[in-house]
Amino acid sequence: MINLKKEKNPMPEQDPAVRASNFREVAEGYTPQMAVNEAMRCLKCRTKPCTKGCPVMVRIPEFIAKVAEGEFEEAYQIISDTSALPRVCGRVCPQENQCEGFCVQRLKGEPVAIGRLERFVADWHAEHEAELEAADDDEAEGAVRIIAKNLPGAGHKVAVVGAGPAGLTCAGDLALKGYEVTVFESLHKPGGVLAYGIPEFRLPKDIVAAEVEKLEKRGVTFVNNAIIGRAETVDELLEEGFEAVFVGTGAGLPSFMNIPGENLLGVCSANEYLTRINLMKGYLPEYDTPVQKAKRVAVVGGGNVAMDAARCAKRMGAEKVYIVYRRSMDEIPARAEEIHHAIEEGIDFQLLKNPVSVVGDENGYVTGLECVEMELGEPDASGRRRPVPKDGSNFVLEVDCVIMAIGTKLNKLILETTENLKANDRGGIGTTDKAVTNRPEIFAGGDAVTGAATVILAMGAGKTAAAGIDEYISNLNE
Ligand code: FAD
Ligand code: SF4
Repeated sequence: MINLKKEKNPMPEQDPAVRASNFREVAEGYTPQMAVNEAMRCLKCRTKPCTKGCPVMVRIPEFIAKVAEGEFEEAYQIISDTSALPRVCGRVCPQENQCEGFCVQRLKGEPVAIGRLERFVADWHAEHEAELEAADDDEAEGAVRIIAKNLPGAGHKVAVVGAGPAGLTCAGDLALKGYEVTVFESLHKPGGVLAYGIPEFRLPKDIVAAEVEKLEKRGVTFVNNAIIGRAETVDELLEEGFEAVFVGTGAGLPSFMNIPGENLLGVCSANEYLTRINLMKGYLPEYDTPVQKAKRVAVVGGGNVAMDAARCAKRMGAEKVYIVYRRSMDEIPARAEEIHHAIEEGIDFQLLKNPVSVVGDENGYVTGLECVEMELGEPDASGRRRPVPKDGSNFVLEVDCVIMAIGTKLNKLILETTENLKANDRGGIGTTDKAVTNRPEIFAGGDAVTGAATVILAMGAGKTAAAGIDEYISNLNE
């Protein structure tokens, strides 16, 4: 039976007034009944337009049909055939531009809440995993071990550099094929942006830890605090016996505006601010991580990173938090849900405004952010209307902290330290659409190739690379 409701079934959430001062997850997830009701809004379209909007081609109508029947584990198996991190994707994918953007239900109302259903199914599986595993008898386990020995990758070593979604996906797929995978991560914990960037209230860190643990159970080895290009190079890894290397080092180098006053005390990059709060747990009183606890904060930028920094600042006790963005709400790039949540939590959006200088006192501390008003002119190369400053419209926002969230750049370390590895025209690592670089034994993917993009695209690249590495090593050993 199809449910003709035009709107998505709402997902329970913490009250904005309460959640703005805690780091617990904002959205609380569907109950089984809510999930079934929402799944029944799916029209089971024959042409499956939603699937075409998914970068990893999750078989969306099929999994939704299983949810509608209450067969949640079967739904999970369908999703996990193509998506390596469904608990993550159900929470952070920009569904409005992907699957839900293609859902025909949009023509009459809201799309089917595909992301919420994915999250529900993946959480349901995680909650019931132990029972499901216990149901497997010893005989089946023995059979799995015997098959593992006969997998194509058995006895072959692959190195993965960077433990973000690209690296984790690549490692997971290769481990399933029997490869001996070692992941080298420069930080003290794996997860990449999932661990250091996206805050706990959007993506609980126990989910990331559980995904890493799952990979460890598949035999993947993690070596943390290992900066490849410094500790040892990609070429040295190959000399040590790794037959192929995947580079998924992301694009974590912060950008600044190069405006006067940016070196004042109280100005920082969003990456540094979020890393101190998330990875180094600066929001927990039992950790002594130094982190700014400002009263009035301006966050410059309009992407997910800016929303995360602004919402963290609020939770860290700021009384006033501004988002300063140079275009309008029509162009703002953050996920719709994050913008909605930020507004609910009282973040003040200063749209069509651009900083021109940071103002400070005689001791070198920030006291304000001087901005200019903007108007939108003709479209630029990105297709978005170019913001143009309005003469004489300068004003100062009184703040004691400025967080720059205007994008990140690629770190060139791997390109500079790997012999004859070529860059692409964006300055990232050059690859074919099969994720192989100009050196056939080196693969790359995710933000390290594309520049800052999305979790699902990084995962897609990790998957493509794993298939390419398997083919490369199989051909070598034929
Ligand atoms: P990363 O996640 O950056 O991981 C790269 C890893 O490589 C890092 O752990 C890094 O420490 C490690 N590394 C780097 N250099 C070396 C080296 N030399 N040796 C060893 N290890 C190294 N996307 C979405 O889809 N939805 C969102 O809601 C969203 N929110 C975001 C919020 C924030 C704050 C940020 C910063 C990004 C967000 N993104 C979001 C973008 C998304 O997280 C990235 O596109 C994605 O994580 C890229 O994955 P990756 O594996 O390529 O790189
Ligand atoms: Fe269901 Fe929407 Fe996909 Fe059609 S496009 S199958 S309604 S989720």
